[in-house]
Amino acid sequence: MLVPVHSKVPRTPPSERIKGARLEIIPLGGYSEVGRNSVAVRVDDEIVILDLGLMMDRYIEYTDSDELVEVSGRTLIEIGAAPDVEILGADRKNVRGILLTHGHLDHIGAVPYLANRFDCDVHATPFTIELVRRMFDDEKRLSRGKLVSHDVNDRFQISEKIEAEFIYITHSVPHSVMILLHTPYGRIMYANDFKFDNNPTLGPKPNYARLRELEGKVDYLILDTLYAESEIKTPSEKIAEEMLKDVLLGTQSRGSTIIVSTFSSHIARLRAIVNVAKMMKRKPVFLGRSLRKYTEAAEAVGIADFSDVEIVGFGNKVKPYLKKITDPDKYLFVATGHQGEPKATLSRIVNQGLLPLADNDIVVFSSKTIPVPVTLENKKRLDDALKARHVRLFSDIHVSGHGAREDHRDFLNMLKPKNIIPTHGVPAALAAFKNLAEEVGYTPDKIRIVVNGERVKVA
Ligand SMILES: [Zn+2]
Repeated sequence: MLVPVHSKVPRTPPSERIKGARLEIIPLGGYSEVGRNSVAVRVDDEIVILDLGLMMDRYIEYTDSDELVEVSGRTLIEIGAAPDVEILGADRKNVRGILLTHGHLDHIGAVPYLANRFDCDVHATPFTIELVRRMFDDEKRLSRGKLVSHDVNDRFQISEKIEAEFIYITHSVPHSVMILLHTPYGRIMYANDFKFDNNPTLGPKPNYARLRELEGKVDYLILDTLYAESEIKTPSEKIAEEMLKDVLLGTQSRGSTIIVSTFSSHIARLRAIVNVAKMMKRKPVFLGRSLRKYTEAAEAVGIADFSDVEIVGFGNKVKPYLKKITDPDKYLFVATGHQGEPKATLSRIVNQGLLPLADNDIVVFSSKTIPVPVTLENKKRLDDALKARHVRLFSDIHVSGHGAREDHRDFLNMLKPKNIIPTHGVPAALAAFKNLAEEVGYTPDKIRIVVNGERVKVA
């Protein structure tokens, strides 16, 4: 599915309004593909856009190339790395708000490049807004509209006919929400991404009470079905915490150097790692720019405190810092680069010998390798380099942030939406979801599998 650098992908032509439709769903990115999540909803002449994400593999391949490349909204759309907002055609001028569900780049990464095409504000929960604000700063861009922060269960008016409601949901990044749109012609719920975590280690359980109140009242549910093929209930984050303890406290590690790598945005996981480091009487040290960025954002909005961690957040500071360390077995290092990215801190530590890794040292991947060719190749190269040094490897010490088949079943039984659009899945996952929905009692005409640009008439 990867495209060579700079190659353009076929553009979706601008789409026309469906004749007579007052309420439409307009998929802009992430439908029948995984990444660059974005959908628009039109209510007469008022439009909102939900999420503006990046297709991360295409984005990284493009921006990592050795040539100097221009990163603009236009080029990102051309290479298929950003949602094609031009699908909106003449409706582009009617966008009244951009609403974001959570802080993952496949949901918010295109905001600094595309939001300024619209004369409207950006709405999200505090942690997500904090990340977006920092992204604009990093790109040295100014936001045209205001960045408006809302509580995780807030309800607010976007335009004359559109009222938005955030409903708190668990995922793998703090302050995640589902978005419910109330319109004169019906209700649309956007639950992308989600998991049902009944033992979250940071923040509350999902807002089940509100989901139950809405039973039978949602006309269209747009649902994250990434793991619809997985016939399980996705385990709680509490399980990941126990897996980490099992590996780090339950193996022989005296005298060993320990490095853990995980998602920088996974604040709950990072706190769990720090807590285990303390149980081991080791000093937690975070190495890498994105770890600094996300932990600072979490602290800025009061979600978590990392004052008990030493953070070496600039790439050029990591080498001199590690050079001074004479007793690495007194530390627990957390480094970026769990996907084996060649330029990330973990690969640099290994390839440049920044820490003298050898027999019985430990590297833990508290993550899952994304199954695309370039990532699998990078991870294998890193694993091989570690194995050549006889390092003990622990991979997949992780649980997902996405619901699976049995979570989808509970979601449908709880909410009983009238119609469903599965999203965020490869075709096989969308098909597996359709099969489940039929098992729950939906007729095939109530489950719409759509592609980008394919407008759906709600009313
Ligand atoms: Zn996500």
